[in-house]
Amino acid sequence: MEALKASSFHHMAKPEVSSTVWKMIWNCRTLPKIRAFLWHSCGNVVASADCLSSRNIPIDPLCSRCGKEKDSVDHIMLHCPYAKAIWFGSSLSHRISNNPSLLIHEWLQHWQNLALQDKNAARESFSKCSFLCWHIWLVRKDFVFSKKFKSLEEIIRSAEAAF
Ligand SMILES: [Zn+2]
Repeated sequence: MEALKASSFHHMAKPEVSSTVWKMIWNCRTLPKIRAFLWHSCGNVVASADCLSSRNIPIDPLCSRCGKEKDSVDHIMLHCPYAKAIWFGSSLSHRISNNPSLLIHEWLQHWQNLALQDKNAARESFSKCSFLCWHIWLVRKDFVFSKKFKSLEEIIRSAEAAF
């Protein structure tokens, strides 16, 4: 799936991402592959089922975890009950907004508000956030393609151990 070039998705709606968010991703203390993943998530060019099915690739466009919503990157990372439980259960104890139309780049920008209080703490939280995002994505991929299942605790543990 990774081999699908970002350019194959250029017909997808491109969200208006603020330069603040691009800068946050660029300056985030994380791994280059995670930075690239966040970059692609904001540009809506990751291989979610929703994205693939809109390219006429025969795939169930619904989320493989909850089966209730379209498998968009925003759903996978934020709105799926599994994602919400991971965010809340992590050491960030982060509660995702109940606004179902919140997009990932808008959500990432919220992390910037923490920097108003404590710059270093904000940097660390955003870095941890990047690892959690990456692990939520990896686990979803393992589940879809290899039917491998990880518990919420395992996902949180592996993301925080990698951080
Ligand atoms: Zn879901």
